[in-house]
Amino acid sequence: MSERWEEGTRHPERRFCEVAIVGGGPAGLTAGLYCARAALKTVLFEEKVAGGQLWNTQDIEDYPGFRHVTGAELAQRFEEHARDFGLDIQPYAVQEVYADGELRVVRTLDGPEYAAAAVIVCSGGEPVKLGVPGEEELAGRGVSYCAVCDGPFFQDQEVAVVGGGDSAFQEALFLTRYARRVHLIHRRDEFRASAVLQGELSAHPKVNILRSHQVEGIEGQDRVEAIRLRDAKTGETRRLDVDGVFIFVGFRPRSRLFRDHVRHDASLYLLTDDRMETSIPGVFAAGDVRAQLARQITTAVGDGTTAALAAAHRVEELRREGVLPASGG
Ligand code: NAP
Repeated sequence: MSERWEEGTRHPERRFCEVAIVGGGPAGLTAGLYCARAALKTVLFEEKVAGGQLWNTQDIEDYPGFRHVTGAELAQRFEEHARDFGLDIQPYAVQEVYADGELRVVRTLDGPEYAAAAVIVCSGGEPVKLGVPGEEELAGRGVSYCAVCDGPFFQDQEVAVVGGGDSAFQEALFLTRYARRVHLIHRRDEFRASAVLQGELSAHPKVNILRSHQVEGIEGQDRVEAIRLRDAKTGETRRLDVDGVFIFVGFRPRSRLFRDHVRHDASLYLLTDDRMETSIPGVFAAGDVRAQLARQITTAVGDGTTAALAAAHRVEELRREGVLPASGG
């Protein structure tokens, strides 16, 4: 792919649009709404269902204007809203993105390729899963990967946090605001988390730290009721009753297609300027795939907005330069 980045080999079936968006989570759908509403011919590629991680979130209480909304409902509303303004959502997997002169070309796996003035990468990311029985079945029913999103649902309840890095420690501290008791469970004796976070958490009266314990399973009928633990030193297993399990064993941006060309940080998040433009002009990044402090629906929406407005400027520039026809298409 790298040699093609500078010199494209034109696909026999090439279509044109003005803005191409890779990924249909909140960042992508917001970028799509803004571009489509600005009358730019915009195509969004989403191989699964539009909405992204919203579909893994049961209840949302921190999206302004909605005292409570389910992830599924918000996903549908985002999609309908963007489609209403003319966003074209195509169900193709993106295989490659490359430059052909000033154009940025998205090649799909089973479909045609699309040449655009700008590409907005909103491919998101995903929390690393523990991979234990019950995790998938009880996701959104007590199993969570976001303390900011779900912590308030565990007022006066007992929760487990799994992981030994900065995220686990920081989120466990956050959960002490709500939970009656927070058990931090880590598979080794030593933590990766910073000494400051370790000090703060171990001194907290609501926190119980369990080292060298592996979570072997998550149990519950309709909601989480307990976790099964194995002591890595003695081999003993036991059940710990909890109402929630927060898993922080890493998060991975879906940046595979871009990391050879686009500047990124050590954790493979794409770096952008304040216009959301990456190190490659005309390639923007928004949402969880981008290096930034917060990974919230609201921040993804903000990123998508900025990226769309910046992409629209590029469309204008390329129109003025005659690279694109004045009316697009
Ligand atoms: P991380 O540092 O990679 O830590 C992941 C933790 O999960 C490790 O303790 C690891 O255990 C554990 N783990 C991995 N797979 C597991 C499994 N299958 N079962 C049980 N435990 C498992 O990830 P992170 O905490 O998300 O942090 C990612 C990066 O963001 C780090 O560079 C971190 O410093 C940074 N960050 C910084 C802040 C801050 O406030 N400065 C906040 C959040 C994140 P082992 O240790 O045994 O491998």
